Formats: sequence, C-alpha cells, structure tokens
Amino acid sequence: MSVVLEVNHLSKKYGSRAAVDDVSFSLSSGEVVGFLGPNGAGKTTTMRMIAGLINPTGGEVKLLGQPVPGKNLKHMGAMIEEPSFYPYLSGRDNLRYAAKLHGNISEKRIEETLELTGMKARGSDRVAKYSQGMRQRLGLARALLSSPQLLMLDEPANGLDPEGIAELREVIKGFGDQGITVFVSSHILPEVEKFAPRVLIINKGKLLRDGGSHDLRPSANTDGANSRYFLETTDAQKALEVLRREPYIQNLELSQAGLHLHLPKAAAYRLAPLLVQGGVMFTQLSRTESAGQSSDLESLYLEVIGDQGNAGGVK
Ligand code: ATP
Repeated sequence: MSVVLEVNHLSKKYGSRAAVDDVSFSLSSGEVVGFLGPNGAGKTTTMRMIAGLINPTGGEVKLLGQPVPGKNLKHMGAMIEEPSFYPYLSGRDNLRYAAKLHGNISEKRIEETLELTGMKARGSDRVAKYSQGMRQRLGLARALLSSPQLLMLDEPANGLDPEGIAELREVIKGFGDQGITVFVSSHILPEVEKFAPRVLIINKGKLLRDGGSHDLRPSANTDGANSRYFLETTDAQKALEVLRREPYIQNLELSQAGLHLHLPKAAAYRLAPLLVQGGVMFTQLSRTESAGQSSDLESLYLEVIGDQGNAGGVK
C-alpha cells in the first residue's frame, strides 16, 4: 500500500496554548481511519491544517509526497464544517455549481457521486426539502467530485439520527473498498469502530494512540475497570447462557428478578445488542456500582492514559 498522507510533527499554537502538539502519523491508500477525541481535543484544527485551510506553527503535511498546500490539494476531498448549499437549487444543481468552481469535472462524475452517496433518486429535489442526513450525504458527494485519493470528514455523523448514521457508515465503508483513503473524526468510539479498523486518539492536542480500533478496548481482566450491573428479566437463565459466552463478562449470578454481572467500563454498550440478538427480553439494565463511568470516549480515554501510567489527577 502506498502512503497517501504524511503528517510530521504537526503543531498549532494559539498564543501560548497548543491546540495541536507535535502530531505525527501517516495514512496509506484505501485505509479507513478514525480520528477520536473529546470536544476541543484538536481534531478540527488538525484537519484544517491537513486541508491547507490554516497554517501550522510547526511541522508539515505531505499529500502524495508533496507539501500542503499545493496543487496536490485537488486529490483531497474534505467536509470539515457542516456543508452549506443553495437551498432553492436541487442537490444536482448544487453539485454542478461546485463542479464549475473546481473546473474539469464532468456531468458523468456528478452522477457518479450522487450514486455513490445514495442521493441519485433525490438529486432533482431542492436542498431545502432535504433531511439533515441527506444534506450530509450531498456534502460527501461534493467532497467526492474531484475523485479524491484522500477524503477527510470532520464529525460527519453530527446531527444524524441512528438510521442516518447507519447509512453513512455503509457509504464510508464503500469508499475504503474503492481504494479511497478516508480519515473521519468523531468523539464516539463505538460508532467509529464499526467502520474504521484503525483509530487515532487525540486529546489536548497530543496523539495518544494509533492502533486497531478493537485493541483500544480495555482488556477483560483489567483490575478495577469492572462495573457491576443488574439485568431485570424474566428470562434470566437464557440471559445467562447468552452472556457467559462473552469472556469479558464475569461473575454472572442469578437472582430472583434477574441477573447480576460484572463487565469492563466502556463495554456496557455491547450488552443490549447481545441480549436482543440472543432473543432475551429484559425490562431494565442498570449499573449498581461504580458511579461516574460511561461507555463513551471520555472513559476510554481515561483508561488509555491510565494504561500509560500518567493518569495522575484525571481519574
Ligand atoms: P470539537 O469536536 O469540539 O470541534 P476538536 O477536537 O475539533 O473539538 P478543535 O476545534 O481543533 O478541537 O480545538 C482544539 C483547541 O484549540 C480548543 O481548545 C479550541 O478552543 C482551540 N482553538 C481552535 N481554534 C482556535 C482559534 N481560532 N483561536 C484560538 N483557539 C482555538
């Protein structure tokens, strides 16, 4: 696989404060990579530097071996802010307008991008009639017009309902299959790991992790990371059978009204889908111990830096 993007010691300071601090990584062709971090972590700033929209105060970005900004930017498609369109023009006409600004983009390519993003059937409707999800997809279509080798999407799932997020996920996976490198930011790990095999974690401007998205999960036997849950169900025996197949769920204990169990922080979101897939009906799933834990990136992030032995004062 050839290297598409190189980010070397990239930094951006605002006054004395570093929004991005010595970040380095590279992306190869066809990789779909998540860029995770809580609000204010430095994701958008990093992406804006990669897209040549703002200048770094240190380091450099190379796209296809050449420094950014340069002519090579035509090989990059980006959706960094929420996309804006002319509401009284159709989706297709908005793309035609963008194509004119780009120059050299055929009508055939416009149709292809509508097709790729699942917008063909609604391409003739005015954008004013589009849902948020359709606007996001039209934004993707616009980012794809120049047949980019790198597609960069900043929080594309923002404002979408679960159905819209699921559709977006399929569209993004499809890009990777076509050899397009996709770099997608988000603050929700469970969402990103569904389509990105590799994830970078950033916080306070520093890159903390670069690895397989599944490796980022805390291990089953991380001491102290477990929470106790109670599952209220009339089908506790069946729940027990379903859940004991999962190595990270421990101390399963039947009670009259349901089932007690322990599982690692950040894995709680897996329970409901497991139970539903296993055909177990339940009325309530509640944490009975260990307050202040959640399955979002923030708790995962705490564990990541905890693993690195510098969690002082954070937990
Ligand atoms: P979010 O998801 O909330 O947008 P983010 O990870 O994209 O978060 P950035 O927008 O890159 O984070 O912001 C990183 C840090 O840099 C924040 O502390 C932010 O306040 C600061 N910052 C960003 N742009 C500027 C600016 N133009 N001037 C001063 N500070 C800025």
